[in-house]
Amino acid sequence: MRICVLPGDGIGPEIVAEAVRVLRALGLSLEFAEAPVGGAAYRALGHPLPESTLELARQSDAILFGAVGDFNLDTLPRELRPEQAILGLRKAFNLFANFRPALVYPELVHASTLKPEVVAGLDILIIRELTGDIYFGQPRGIRTLENGVREGFDTMRYSEPEIERVAHVAFQAARKRNKRLCSVDKANVLDTMQLWREVVIAVGKEYPDVELSHMYVDNAAMQLLKNPKQFDVIVTGNMFGDILSDEASMLTGSIGLLPSASLNEKNFGLYEPIHGSAPDIAGKGIANPLATILSAAMLLRFSGGLNAAAEQIETAVKRVLAQGYRTGDIAEPGLRTVGTREMGDAVLAAL
Ligand code: NAD
Repeated sequence: MRICVLPGDGIGPEIVAEAVRVLRALGLSLEFAEAPVGGAAYRALGHPLPESTLELARQSDAILFGAVGDFNLDTLPRELRPEQAILGLRKAFNLFANFRPALVYPELVHASTLKPEVVAGLDILIIRELTGDIYFGQPRGIRTLENGVREGFDTMRYSEPEIERVAHVAFQAARKRNKRLCSVDKANVLDTMQLWREVVIAVGKEYPDVELSHMYVDNAAMQLLKNPKQFDVIVTGNMFGDILSDEASMLTGSIGLLPSASLNEKNFGLYEPIHGSAPDIAGKGIANPLATILSAAMLLRFSGGLNAAAEQIETAVKRVLAQGYRTGDIAEPGLRTVGTREMGDAVLAAL
């Protein structure tokens, strides 16, 4: 596999370096090529997603991404801000399916703000449609009505093919897990979501082995807090998924441990931790690299079909947590607090 490595800003380079060390240690035939992205790319080449970086990504099988974001560049015009790089990559590669697993490790049950019995053993996957919905629907804007009153408007839109393709991805993902898929919508109020439900049901006929259920988004928001373990895989649209996936990540209580993947139809994907560039701790060598290391495991599984290698990494991460290694964000009295590099070393040793 050719892997395009885009470390980005802030803690990005530190955490990506550890993920690359872990990937290299597996003894697989992997090639790495690195390029600047985000604020780093703006400073070096005048654009957050330079053509040379895009070209490198095009020649690769997957992207391993750190994080972008630099408060010193927040005054730039929107199209030149570091965060635009992610939107540009999603668009360039049509990354329409966003995978956000939320897993609670036994040793970190108490890191959640929820009661241990609610979250212990939690292992859910939220699949969020990423390229459609009200975030991209036209028309949109702010207009002044005849009576002089200003009005803002956005348009929720989903075409049948857009719903079908993310539904297929979700059913296939459920098939590889516990074979239960919950489609979250708002079919009782929104026509777009009525179509969503109809199409998901139709696609479901091709997956009789997967148990399909439906839930309104307001109820899903409650159920995720009340009884999150009832879910296996959730599939939902862009806006609802944006909110629910962040809610679900907080069930685990630790932002430094959560990986994500954004995939297209050819299983090309961008793999990144869910957190940002953490400028407050950048350069200090204390960032938690595990979310990025787990993103690398997802990369092997989804873009490389290398399930055994992915599991090796995931098992190694479980082991270092069980051994008591903690970075500052998940530190506990009595356990060993380590830096970014030492955490990488511990994963390598466990591998
Ligand atoms: P953040 O996720 O960067 O940080 C939030 C808090 O969590 C900070 O206190 C940080 O120190 C901590 N944290 C995050 N990752 C950590 C890790 N691996 N180990 C230990 N602690 C960690 O969010 P923010 O501070 O709101 O944003 C900072 C910058 O990141 C902004 O410019 C924002 O736009 C950008 N951002 C980028 C992405 C991305 O690249 N996908 C996502 C979110 C935010």
